[in-house]
Amino acid sequence: MRETTPITVARGDGIGPEITDAVLHVMEAAGARLKVEEVPAGEQVYRRGHLGGLDAAGWGSIRRTRVFLKGPITTPQGYGNKSLNVTARTTLGLFANVRPCVSHHPYVRTRHPRMDVVIIRENEEDLYAGIEHRQTDDVIQSVKLISRPGSERIVRYAFDYARANHRRKVTAFVKDNVMKMTDGLFLKIFNEIAAEYPEIKADHLIVDIGAARLADQPERFDVIVTLNLYGDIVSDIAAQITGSVGLAGSANIGDACAMFEAIHGSAPMIAGQGIANPSGLLMAAVMMLVHIGQGDVAARIHNAWLKTIEDGVHTVDIFNRGVSRQRVGTHAFADAVVERLGQMPVTLPTVGYAVTARPAYESGVRLSPRRKAVKELVGVDVFLHWPGGNPDELAGLVLPVATPALRLSSISNRSQKVWPEGNIGVFCTDHWRCRFLAPEGVAVGHPDIVELLSGLARAGLDFTQTENLCNFDGKSGFSAT
Ligand code: NAD
Repeated sequence: MRETTPITVARGDGIGPEITDAVLHVMEAAGARLKVEEVPAGEQVYRRGHLGGLDAAGWGSIRRTRVFLKGPITTPQGYGNKSLNVTARTTLGLFANVRPCVSHHPYVRTRHPRMDVVIIRENEEDLYAGIEHRQTDDVIQSVKLISRPGSERIVRYAFDYARANHRRKVTAFVKDNVMKMTDGLFLKIFNEIAAEYPEIKADHLIVDIGAARLADQPERFDVIVTLNLYGDIVSDIAAQITGSVGLAGSANIGDACAMFEAIHGSAPMIAGQGIANPSGLLMAAVMMLVHIGQGDVAARIHNAWLKTIEDGVHTVDIFNRGVSRQRVGTHAFADAVVERLGQMPVTLPTVGYAVTARPAYESGVRLSPRRKAVKELVGVDVFLHWPGGNPDELAGLVLPVATPALRLSSISNRSQKVWPEGNIGVFCTDHWRCRFLAPEGVAVGHPDIVELLSGLARAGLDFTQTENLCNFDGKSGFSAT
């Protein structure tokens, strides 16, 4: 008797219940060895006042089973509610989002018949940390956080994935030409880790041209690893150009838990009509079965699904006169897959999966040892909310407050230098950055910053934020602008 794996299932909103029913039906018919714990999620839970879209029992079930198959959730509009997707990714530590995007030519209409790309997106950091502050009347700031361990975990995951799945190449998408420190760190780590996988080709592209090439010639790509925001955009482009966003599933992988979902949303316009395509959630379920060591069942379902697509049994979103033979609803599509369990596709490539459970992916265990750098405080950036418009006037107010240890070195507005000898034609908002630097050879500490801020306060200047300027091992740890 083979072991049964407990999983948590949430049907979700909109078309979620219909497609989840269809997927559970296919998995049961295929002999998946599962003990399903159903939990409510989404709108009904938000309405009961749970801001994260799952109640305590729901979170408890996921912590117990560690495997979550999630139907799509309508993103709450109400202030205070948090997206369940974002909450689950961060609270469960699901650092890797894995999205295979494969075309099924000629059965699903696409301009890219030979496309087979996997997008691996960092899931927890970047602008998605959601650290935002209104600083002045004019300016709101969002913080982009990139960490060494966060980058190392996702890049290593991408190379391990490529190795385990016999992929040839991993491409990093970054914007290090502009964000030299954050994206630069990601790329540096990518290059370091790539060297440990000599059998896998590694290259990188600036994300804008990378996205353009992906949209034009996706067959040039194999595995793409990228930061959270770029990954969000690029993975939707990739899924769309396979022919339909309704076909792709995704896995969110962490050290302790994993969550599997379709990439599409709750499609409220077609909810309750029985016409939604359950394929995206079914492909997510296939990834889940592989994850829990039921690759035999996953392959049975995947091959039967390919045969169904090949036989032209299509839901309305992929129905294509000339190729499609039968237009079916959600449940009839699931029945068609069930009828074909045990069959193989004839022209589309068949799939096979390992049947042993992957060991828990303990990404933290393989982080390279972190060395503490020698950190030296050399100055401070002080951001001011100042409604005046003349940088020389502001310098006149700030200069008398500067201390012998921290001297005013420059003033900038939206990163453009405006004092001294500011660039001509810079449009200035009410958000000013005054950079104070210690003279060569003068050691500064936190008390010097406190003294400076006290002086600014006495002068009636409204400081909204400070950033310490430090050198790490003698190298500048801050941008020049
Ligand atoms: P959507 O993905 O729900 O729908 C986009 C289009 O694709 C619609 O025309 C829809 O009818 C169609 N579509 C989507 N899935 C389909 C399927 N399985 N079969 C056939 N057609 C399908 O995107 P949206 O309308 O922008 O979002 C609706 C809600 O879902 C929003 O609240 C959004 O925030 C949320 N959403 C949730 C998730 C998630 O839970 N992971 C992902 C994306 C969007």
